[in-house]
Order: sequence, then structure tokens, then C-alpha cells
Amino acid sequence: MKIPDITIAVDGFSSTGKSTLARLIAQRFDFLYLDSGAMYRGVTLFAQEQGLISPDNVIDPALEAALEGLDLHFAQGTVLYMGERNIEKQIRSMEVSAQVSPIAAVPYVRRYVDRRLHEFSAAGRVVMDGRDIGTTVFPNAEIKVFMTARPEVRAQRRFDELAGKGENPVFEEVLKNLEERDYIDSHRETSPLRRAEDAFVLDNSEMGLTDEVAWAEGLIRGKFLLLDAPDAPAND
Ligand code: C5P
Repeated sequence: MKIPDITIAVDGFSSTGKSTLARLIAQRFDFLYLDSGAMYRGVTLFAQEQGLISPDNVIDPALEAALEGLDLHFAQGTVLYMGERNIEKQIRSMEVSAQVSPIAAVPYVRRYVDRRLHEFSAAGRVVMDGRDIGTTVFPNAEIKVFMTARPEVRAQRRFDELAGKGENPVFEEVLKNLEERDYIDSHRETSPLRRAEDAFVLDNSEMGLTDEVAWAEGLIRGKFLLLDAPDAPAND
């Protein structure tokens, strides 16, 4: 199936499987995949390492100027680097998860990340996941998906993911972190998490990945009225 060079925005609550679905869409249709959450996590790690955020989330205003010298970029596809350093593992830790939402609520942090995301996706043909992609970063995205699932289901998935990476998660803490992030993300003043009016909702509480991908493919095909048959005239 030939898909034109469009932008696909995948937004939704924490741990709904946005990045998994977005990655699979990118593979299936040969799109660039960009994980905007990784950028907020990268800024959080930077603030922590520079001592610019306190344990109770007080953010030093010096962070704004410090961001000017911060080089966050993706290499090897979707691996986040800070300068020369691969920070992929660190940004997924509970320490970073615990402080990322307060950092992501700061307007100058959002401006920094938005600018970088636009630079990375300048060539087009992008699928990007996050919280405000369909509302703020790419309000004109041709396809918008908004993902949700029951909090316990999401916490279990995140718990399994952390345990699989050798961390020692506590289920109640993981659930609490998800609920706190959802609350802060949905209630902040700048670009809060909300469904774009033209986004299609995917509740995957009771769905497996195969069905999700089939759902997304159906959406994309439907949008362009493309048929998969090799001799279908709409393909060329
Ligand atoms: O997607 P992920 O859970 O890794 O994102 C981490 C955090 O980054 C979110 O909880 C949210 O606070 C923030 N975020 C955001 N806007 C985005 C993507 C992520 O505020 N577009």
C-alpha cells in the first residue's frame, strides 16, 4: 500500500502503548518515528544532573539559559543522545519518570522541545507520539489517534516493562506515578493533554497489539481510500 508523505500524531495517556503502535506504523509504512516524550525525559535528566531541579520539583530558572547549550538528538533511529552520550536507559528510569511531568509543564521547556521536534521532522513522512502532537506540535496532522486504557491495565504494562529491564518496580508506585503524570499533563496551562477534536480514539484496555495495528491500518487506508490489492488502480 502506498501512503503519501503525511504526518501521523499519536497522543494519549501514559503507558497506553503509544510508542509501540507508532513504531509499528513507522515500520509498516516506512515513516520516520519520533518519540517526543523521550525529549522531555532528556531535559529532565539534564536538569537533574545539573542540579537545576530539587527533590520536591522546584525548578531553577537558570534551566532556561542552560537549555541553549543542550544537544539532545536521536541516533540509530530512536535512541536518544545527550551530546555524545547514549541516555536511552537513564531516561526510562523511575527517577526521571517521577520528575518529567513538572519539567514538561514549563513553557520554555515546551518551546525548546517543540523547536527540536520540528527540526527533526523537517523532511516529513513522520509518525510522532506524545501528549500534544495533534493539538499543538502538528495541529494539521492528516491522521490523529488518541490512545487510552484503564489505569490498572496501563500500570501492569509499565510494571512488566520495568521488571523486564531488571528494575525492581512496586506496582502501587508505578500506578501512582501514572496517575500523577496524567493529572499534571491534563491540567497544565501550556498544551495540556487532551484529545484533538479530529482525533480517533483507541481504547486498548482489552485489545492485543495485532488488533491495534489492524485498527490503525484501517484508519490510514480509509483516510486515503487505498486498496491493498496489487492491481488496484488507486495504488498508483
Ligand atoms: O511518553 P512518555 O511517557 O515517555 O512521556 C513522558 C512525559 O513527558 C509525560 O508524562 C509528559 O509529562 C511529557 N510529555 C509531554 N508532551 C509530549 C510528550 C511527553 O508533556 N508531547
